[in-house]
Amino acid sequence: MKFFDEASIYVAAGDGGNGCSSFRREKYVEYGGPDGGDGGAGGDIILEASDSLNTLVDFRYQRRFLAEHGKKGGSRNCTGASGEDLILKVPVGTTIIDDDTEEVVVDLVDPGQTHLIAKGGHGGLGNARFKSSVNRAPRKTTPGSTGESFNLRMQLKVLADVGLLGMPNAGKSTLVGAVSAAKPKIADYPFTTLIPQLGVVKVDRMRSFVISDIPGLIEGASEGAGLGLRFLKHLSRTRVLLHMVDATELDGGDPARQAEAIIQELENFAPSLLERERWLVFNKCDLLFEEELAAVKKAVTERLDFKGRVYTISALEGSGLKQLNYDLMEALELRQTRMLEDESYAEKQRALEISIENQVRDRIKRLAEARKARKSVEEPDEEDVDGVQVFYQA
Ligand code: GDP
Ligand code: MG
Repeated sequence: MKFFDEASIYVAAGDGGNGCSSFRREKYVEYGGPDGGDGGAGGDIILEASDSLNTLVDFRYQRRFLAEHGKKGGSRNCTGASGEDLILKVPVGTTIIDDDTEEVVVDLVDPGQTHLIAKGGHGGLGNARFKSSVNRAPRKTTPGSTGESFNLRMQLKVLADVGLLGMPNAGKSTLVGAVSAAKPKIADYPFTTLIPQLGVVKVDRMRSFVISDIPGLIEGASEGAGLGLRFLKHLSRTRVLLHMVDATELDGGDPARQAEAIIQELENFAPSLLERERWLVFNKCDLLFEEELAAVKKAVTERLDFKGRVYTISALEGSGLKQLNYDLMEALELRQTRMLEDESYAEKQRALEISIENQVRDRIKRLAEARKARKSVEEPDEEDVDGVQVFYQA
């Protein structure tokens, strides 16, 4: 499942039609008065939030959206027809940013919510408007005004409840694939996941949550060397973070050191993320004997001084997943209830989210600046034509 969370588009509302200059021509009337009508208004561009959409994928194929121009005025005082409005449907949760000023224009959060994003031009005035006692035959008209146009960036926040962290090859994609209907790309070499994979985990008929693999969080990623860096901002939305550790040493790594690197990474990226609920998940347990596993768990939890919940799973074979899912669901529901009932807890959680968001935004901004500076000196290694990801090899 591909997930597109950003799209750049250009919108231009319609221009107003010009006013018309015309004089009545009638049999037996030698000098007919002015009868040029006004131009029609240009069509507006309106955004509408829809909950039947969940990606911005449509905006990858078409990127220019032009509303209809108003028609020009006609003789016999005919006003030109107005241009048709263009309504663009976007998923609920889409944030619209003016690409030139970097300003957030609107957050479309409620289904059905609309926002007039670009106003059509006014119709020009026909010459009939300029008739006066001193000028009975005005030729003056005004042109229609130009419709507004903008370069916009659309961002769709991933509303994942659970975010997965871990080194490349820890088994994040495998887990998302195992617990959900999503079919993430899996390959046994690092750097396969460039975009977050979302999965809906159904615990039972009525209860489900969204899990998201957060790619690119590797040592040094927050310095700009990692992949899919931008998606780290999705971390600010998740309620529980699963820190996945490859319990084996297949990649020649030391699990404790690798786990530590991720923590360090979080701290560099946005220290407030460390205050989020975070569980340790040891993966690939099918490859270890019980005693080996116990030793790894002990080493890692001690090194991290980890006091939270610890799970051992095999994403590949499916062991331990049911319990993990169930506990995640329960934790999310508990949090939800507490948010409603405990005002001071809710306050704290909201403050935490804002703090994470600010830190992440700040971090990404600084990284983007650093990249820009670098770009001007050296050629980028690789640039996604779609403009979603710009990534650099470490
Ligand atoms: P990611 O980079 O964290 O997304 O890791 P992947 O999900 O792509 O997994 C990397 C490799 O580890 C793949 O070859 C998987 O088949 C393998 N793998 C993942 N989970 C397990 C597991 O529980 N047991 C074993 N034996 N291999 C696993
Ligand atoms: Mg992956």
